[in-house]
Amino acid sequence: MRVLGIETTCDETAASVVERGEDGSARILSNVVLSQVKKHAAYGGVVPEIASRAHIDAIDRVVAQALTDAETDISDIDGVSAAAGPGLIGGVIVGLTTAKALAFAAGKPFLAVNHLEGHALTARLTDGVEFPYLLLLVSGGHSQLLAVEGVGKYRRLGTTIDDAIGEAFDKVAKLLGLGYPGGPQVEKAAESGDSSRFNFPRPMIGRAEPNFSLAGLKTAVRIEAEKIAPLSDRDIADLCASFQAAVIDMVLDRVRVALQMFKAQFGHPSALVVAGGVAANAALRGGLERMSEHFRVKLVAPPLDLCGDNGAMIAWAGAERLALGLTDPLDTAPRARWPLDEKSALPGARA
Ligand code: ATP
Ligand code: FE
Ligand code: MG
Repeated sequence: MRVLGIETTCDETAASVVERGEDGSARILSNVVLSQVKKHAAYGGVVPEIASRAHIDAIDRVVAQALTDAETDISDIDGVSAAAGPGLIGGVIVGLTTAKALAFAAGKPFLAVNHLEGHALTARLTDGVEFPYLLLLVSGGHSQLLAVEGVGKYRRLGTTIDDAIGEAFDKVAKLLGLGYPGGPQVEKAAESGDSSRFNFPRPMIGRAEPNFSLAGLKTAVRIEAEKIAPLSDRDIADLCASFQAAVIDMVLDRVRVALQMFKAQFGHPSALVVAGGVAANAALRGGLERMSEHFRVKLVAPPLDLCGDNGAMIAWAGAERLALGLTDPLDTAPRARWPLDEKSALPGARA
């Protein structure tokens, strides 16, 4: 089956056509991502009103391009899916309404996908990972450890008690004057830095629940930066390297705890999957690689272009749901907040 997926929950206008074989095999036929990053850069973050307008301007072109690239006519599509949240509500409405209109006009099934479910199932699109697996979801808005038992069956083992990890990278980049989005900039600066120069706190390490905390660490970076200002390039590199090392130490410790929890409840996971924009971080991937070898768990990290927001993950999640016979009514509401482990995320249980 072929599913067209639309993603507009944040600052990427994206559409993709994905093909799912009856055996669960996957093929990405097109994947168009139009980033609005330049429009928001001057403000140091995503401005919701600018994002909504940019989605409206771009959505028709992006969807048409996705169909053209896939050499697919809308009549050859088996379903149209859109991220119905969580995210910036103005943007969500643009993608959701577009998908509904296309599905209605073409007489195709409509699928409302949770954006996080898109990130969560990407490893099945790229690597055909079997259930159950442990998911480390780290993005600009979320930092969670989830047991993925099946399509629509997600159990949250841990989460951040304050900032998301991507958000912390963005805030540290901003306070060091590195620009937006911050994650890639901090990682780049960290490459030439000395991670042992500043001994930043490793919050949460040793706690029984696999939760994260970033606020204290971010504040520690700010205090240190103010102490040694004006900052040289070397200072900035060392601050970034020390910050990144602290984050990775915390994440690895939290994943270790979640793995134990997972094994006790669900048995040996088929894989440790990392997803979300922060999964692009090579140092984090390296740390997870070493840890997964130690625990004899396969590590699956999607290719970089599928780590950040994209339409393929929404098309794929739609295809997985459609294969189970799940569709959604055309009056499905957009949602700014939508926890992945909530009851309504279960197949057939969505109101
Ligand atoms: P969500 O998916 O939670 O709604 P989002 O859409 O903002 O949030 P993504 O697009 O998945 O999240 O990821 C963007 C985030 O990933 C940003 O915070 C960005 O700084 C971070 N990021 C991207 N690349 C890297 C990197 N190399 N190292 C660290 N963080 C990174
Ligand atoms: Fe995302
Ligand atoms: Mg984004």
